[in-house]
Amino acid sequence: MNAALREAAQVQEDAYLKTLATLIGFETPSNEAAAGNVLVDYLELRLAQDGWQVERLRQSEVGDQLIARLAASGERSSLLLAHYDTVWPLGTLAQMPFKRDGERVYGPGVLDMKAGISSALHAKILIDKLKLELAGPVTLLLSSDEEIGSHHSRKLIETLAREHERVLVLEPGRDDGALKLGRKAVGDFFLEFLGRSAHAGNNPKEGASALRELAQFLLYVEDLNDDDAQTSVNLTVAEGGSATNVIAEQASANVDVRIMTNPEAERIERAIRGYQPRDSRVQVKVSGGINRPPLELTTANQALFAEAKTLASNLGFELEGAVVGGGSDGNFTSALGIATLDGLGSVGEGPHARHEHIRLSETLDRLALLTALLTRSG
Ligand SMILES: [Zn+2]
Repeated sequence: MNAALREAAQVQEDAYLKTLATLIGFETPSNEAAAGNVLVDYLELRLAQDGWQVERLRQSEVGDQLIARLAASGERSSLLLAHYDTVWPLGTLAQMPFKRDGERVYGPGVLDMKAGISSALHAKILIDKLKLELAGPVTLLLSSDEEIGSHHSRKLIETLAREHERVLVLEPGRDDGALKLGRKAVGDFFLEFLGRSAHAGNNPKEGASALRELAQFLLYVEDLNDDDAQTSVNLTVAEGGSATNVIAEQASANVDVRIMTNPEAERIERAIRGYQPRDSRVQVKVSGGINRPPLELTTANQALFAEAKTLASNLGFELEGAVVGGGSDGNFTSALGIATLDGLGSVGEGPHARHEHIRLSETLDRLALLTALLTRSG
């Protein structure tokens, strides 16, 4: 049993709430670089004061990325992934202020994922307070664009992940607190069909119907579904034609795909990009694609989860794992083959929703678990 660590995390409550209130006080929507950088200014100072070595990577289109490191001699190095951007626009705080109601703590981005950042900060505070020994070097990445696809941070995430033995993602757990062991890949393809118009009464045969091609494509793409593999492919939006008496020159379609494994992602990508029009006079242009690879339950991820489960049981609570639909930056690192565990930041409900909140004591238990993962306190 490691009741002392669990208790010490619970005793952090006031300090943790103070940190959280401060972080939520900075509004940081992904597309407001200047606002994001005000929080980065604060975190840069705060992390240095708390004993981290801080490196700030300036960005132009999004907020700066912040890397904070703890040196240690042990071999079990960990990369902590956190993002400070939220989905909430500037001004949300006025309608959705930071608020505690019993066990629940509310505020824009509290769950996704200012509490995750707070947990990283307080893990270090706990380590110092209890004089725990790190299991290996720790690197914390605070990125600025996770909510809009991580286009400015993906390379950095992948580079850092390769330098570490494992990746701990500080996203929230599932509503019931389960860690996220699997996440589906998500893709959005856009297809444009360009045919040839003609009068529908006088010379229809001279036309090459973009709509007819779209209909062929619809049947083709829906045949890609595979229930056993949990692959879903759906044509979700379609549009085309110009007038009731004209053979359609133009049509377009959106395809939403959700995929569980990398081979399935490759199969779908190949099939959609390789679509050959039935009518060779119709041109087909494909854009978009799969945004994030799936987070698969690899052997490495499974072993890391088993370790977390044991540590949790030593702390005195049960830990579950689940497969969820949405993606995170952990999808990138797991796809590289690096042990990745997601959902370690906090416990609560309603990410991206008005009722977004964390449950405090469960979140502090998770802080104890994170601390145990980073140290030799198991
Ligand atoms: Zn998030």
